[in-house]
Amino acid sequence: MSTTDCLFCKIVEGTLPSLKVYETEHLYAFLDIKPAHRGHTLLVPKTHCRDIFDAAHGQDARLGEEVLRTMQRLAAALKEVTGCPGINIIQNNGSAAGQTVFHLHWHIIPRFENDGIPAWPQKKYESQAAMNDMAETLRNALSCTN
Ligand code: 5GP
Ligand code: ZN
Repeated sequence: MSTTDCLFCKIVEGTLPSLKVYETEHLYAFLDIKPAHRGHTLLVPKTHCRDIFDAAHGQDARLGEEVLRTMQRLAAALKEVTGCPGINIIQNNGSAAGQTVFHLHWHIIPRFENDGIPAWPQKKYESQAAMNDMAETLRNALSCTN
């Protein structure tokens, strides 16, 4: 998708409206139009990239630091303003993972006790060996020897 067709690029440029809550040099934060709870905020890089895989190319290496610092600020502000005791930070990659807007973004969502938002299932490995295998396979994929 070209950036001219991208909804969040248009929001960042201001050609589509949004309710901005914060911005930094490289990031823009605004209210989600369909919030899980009031205050549900989206944080996006101002430069288009599709998802976490795409972010490995092109984006400034220091972006990670800015994202973490900004998420901390947004989470603290949401806690103060909504009184929520918890916050979820969620980032979907690919339609299988629930991504619907293909411009990298983080959801910062206020959470309350027993608020009815479902958690993902907690499954089990079929055996300890299967779990060991998974860890080893991933370490190999990551070329990690420790
Ligand atoms: P995803 O499912 O891709 O992780 O999240 C996309 C989010 O963007 C959804 O939570 C959706 O409500 C939000 N969204 C979609 N279109 C708009 C829009 O035009 N304005 C705003 N503020 N949020 C939007
Ligand atoms: Zn975009």
